[in-house]
Amino acid sequence: MACAAGVDRLTTYGTGSAHAPSVSTAAARRASARRAAGSGILSTVSDGYIRLIPADPTWQPTPEAAAAAVAYVARLFSGPTDDVEHVDHEFYDRVTLIDAGENTTRITCSRCEGDIDLEWFYDLIEESGESFDNLDARAPCCGAVVSLDTLRYDWPVGFARFEVSAMNPTRAKYELDAQELADVAALLGHPVTQILAHY
Ligand SMILES: [Zn+2]
Repeated sequence: MACAAGVDRLTTYGTGSAHAPSVSTAAARRASARRAAGSGILSTVSDGYIRLIPADPTWQPTPEAAAAAVAYVARLFSGPTDDVEHVDHEFYDRVTLIDAGENTTRITCSRCEGDIDLEWFYDLIEESGESFDNLDARAPCCGAVVSLDTLRYDWPVGFARFEVSAMNPTRAKYELDAQELADVAALLGHPVTQILAHY
């Protein structure tokens, strides 16, 4: 299975042996979601991801710090009743959309508060190949130039050059709490935020 260009995957942890590790780039995930949606067959397979990204969209950690963060996140889901299929990290050459999959259903403009068609957003993402030199775009509602990371997404998305993602994690509490986010931030050396995605 080939890695997407510009993606450098160094460390992989998996505790769920029942499933083969799968390619987890955002592009691959969305392509697979589209195939499932277009197949006309009701799919019973869906995947949830916790995606941890630096607060600054351009910031990247050292490879050692990235590996330490992956190991830490894998441990969070290693209790007797916990599971996670796959935890890994990705470095992106350019600022890349960290989407929330089908969780995001509404986008509103940060300038005029008008509704923005999801199609407009996904067309833009498709054109750009999900990566950006700068996030400015002309909003379809009011024509203002807005940064994509300032639009309001009903389910947050992010933009980053690095992520740690946990595939199909299960435990009593799902997402990371404030202390765990602070621990990941300390390991990476930069504040982090989490994007909860579902495909
Ligand atoms: Zn607007």
